[in-house]
Amino acid sequence: MSEAPANQYDARLRSEELRSLINYHNRLYYELDAPEVPDAVYDELLNELRSIESKYPELITPDSPTQRTGAAPLTTFDVVEHRVPLLSLSNCFSEEDLAAWHRRASERVGAERFALTSEPKIDGLAISLVYENGRFIQGATRGDGLRGENVTENLRTITTIPRVLKGDFPPLFEVRGEVYMSKSGFERMNEAIGEQNLEREREGRKPLALYANPRNAAAGSVRQKDPSVTAGRPLAMFVYQLGWCEGSRPASHFETIGWLAAMGFTTNPETRLHAGVDEVHPRIEWWGHQRERLDYDIDGVVLKLDDTRDWERLGYVGREPRWATAFKFPPQQRTTKLRDIATNVGRTGVITPFAVLEPVVVGGATISMATLHNEGDIRRKDIRVGDAVIVQRAGEVIPQVVGPVLSLRTGDEVEFKMPELCPTCGTPLQREPEEAAYYCPNTSCPAQQIRLIEHFAGRGGMDIEGLGERMAYTLYESGLARDVAAIYDLTAEELMTLPGIKEKGAGNLLRGIEASKKRPLPNVLFALGIRHVGFETARLLAEHIGNLEGLLRVDDESLRAIEGVGPVVAGSIARWVERPEHRELIERLVMAGVNPAMERTAAGAGGLLEGLTLVVTGRLDQISRNDAEDRIRAAGGKVGTSVTKGTDFLVVGADAGSKLAKAEKLGTRQLDEAGFLRLLEEGPAFLESAV
Ligand code: NAD
Repeated sequence: MSEAPANQYDARLRSEELRSLINYHNRLYYELDAPEVPDAVYDELLNELRSIESKYPELITPDSPTQRTGAAPLTTFDVVEHRVPLLSLSNCFSEEDLAAWHRRASERVGAERFALTSEPKIDGLAISLVYENGRFIQGATRGDGLRGENVTENLRTITTIPRVLKGDFPPLFEVRGEVYMSKSGFERMNEAIGEQNLEREREGRKPLALYANPRNAAAGSVRQKDPSVTAGRPLAMFVYQLGWCEGSRPASHFETIGWLAAMGFTTNPETRLHAGVDEVHPRIEWWGHQRERLDYDIDGVVLKLDDTRDWERLGYVGREPRWATAFKFPPQQRTTKLRDIATNVGRTGVITPFAVLEPVVVGGATISMATLHNEGDIRRKDIRVGDAVIVQRAGEVIPQVVGPVLSLRTGDEVEFKMPELCPTCGTPLQREPEEAAYYCPNTSCPAQQIRLIEHFAGRGGMDIEGLGERMAYTLYESGLARDVAAIYDLTAEELMTLPGIKEKGAGNLLRGIEASKKRPLPNVLFALGIRHVGFETARLLAEHIGNLEGLLRVDDESLRAIEGVGPVVAGSIARWVERPEHRELIERLVMAGVNPAMERTAAGAGGLLEGLTLVVTGRLDQISRNDAEDRIRAAGGKVGTSVTKGTDFLVVGADAGSKLAKAEKLGTRQLDEAGFLRLLEEGPAFLESAV
């Protein structure tokens, strides 16, 4: 948190500035459902204002955003006066914050240890529901806490909100909860909007706005004028609290949650009761790991005193109850400056732009580069060099640029233009009609050749020990190997001219190169780095052609006839084979004695996953569990039946159980289905590549 200014004059100026900035972001967030900055940035502004106000209390104004929640209701809807205000929650960002909150609460409760509940802090929008004689009669947004918007009709379209209750219920009461959109539903919805936009573009109509995240999508969907639009949106609700209630209620919040569930409300099944705050820590850690895997966004864990009689005793401070707090997870999004957009040349010649950023800590790691996919993506998101941009990083996922912060534009930002020439060799770039990517058509482009040599010698390919990124570069730059076939002509004398290479090193490398001549055919085909030919495709192709020279005899038609090879892949292989320099390369490899073994392929020896043990758990969508295990074995990996210290990866499908818990405990790396399929195609290298 920034220091409060040392004198009152500066403090006044800064607090005024902060108030107007925060109010601006409040309007975008609460009224328009279209925030411009990540929550972490907003929270920093609010915390800075809080620290000024605590040092200079005379500067607190009644309308300061530190004293209010949310925003006034929109005039589109009727206003609902909340019988009991819906307020916010205090935040804890560290163990110390939590200890301080606990100390304050325990002084008021008059006990050092008291029971608490823990529940996920769902990232959606707060909703109040009123039931009379078991029937849903009114639903409202939080609004400014005192007055919300009447969105009853829209809420009736959400199937997890019961219209009629079961069992025992009070005659008239209110429940509170969070309406949210699942991550998968959000992706599908944005994809559908994207498709509609393509059509609108063709018709010359304005594109529809995409939602930035599931929270905004949920808020925007609940606050639609037309309930039929809401009905088409994938919304759900978790009820997390009983509000006001005419009739008796349990004194325990935890018991109340069970009671609400019995009435038919959807409550979060992972809500837990703890005897003291010491039991809460492991649970917070557990949620932190769980976060990536849930199909809904959470941004922390909410802790509440279990005895609701204490709720009245402890009351509120400002807009926050003293009897609850939110332990917030480290932000996965931050803003930083986009210094430049540079381009990379891949081994197949594809040019990928990437962001050069002012270093920033996101999700616990310092980020200075992030992917930008392709030119179309940069244009769609309107990202310009010099922009303040939002960067995102979740778990092991490669950092991404989400988009620019438009209000911080100065006018000096520069639009990105894809270079016309290859940044390495200067050849004019080309673009295939059906593809978004530009590529350098010069197959002897140094950047491509260096990456290709590295890939050729890598895992799942020729697997040559000692020939990694640095050596590939040195061999190329020294002129000793300008392409992959030249590796087989290297001599010990030549290698010993390279800096740092002595007789022993040269001998080891040459032995590795010699051994590679006997790698299985799929490995050799994968090693060639043909566009769209991953390890799986290489296996199919190997079965079809039988030996390396067979590659010279394929054409588009015969390739399309291979089961599992589609027209794009067939076209790519056929084009590769047609090129005279590639035909010559194959001939040189054969001449050099590269004579791939066919018989070893069945066992998967030398495969992409050799030496790795994987365990599969839960239900996969695209392939069966058996298929997944067969493919691991075919790629040379081992399939484990239980998670142990020797397990390299746990592949996690839906409804995973005890294996996942074990992996959490041991810190085993986990992959979802998409990550697993990528691992089968590209090997573990993709997990390490930062950009
Ligand atoms: P909050 O969201 O941090 O906490 C209060 C809310 O938590 C409650 O209203 C409730 O809806 C929700 N909640 C979820 N699960 C709950 C549970 N199990 N029990 C109780 N409550 C639960 O506070 P706030 O005042 O609603 O809003 C502040 C949040 O909004 C911050 O995260 C802030 O960063 C964000 N915000 C962002 C911007 C922006 O421009 N990015 C602008 C305004 C606010």
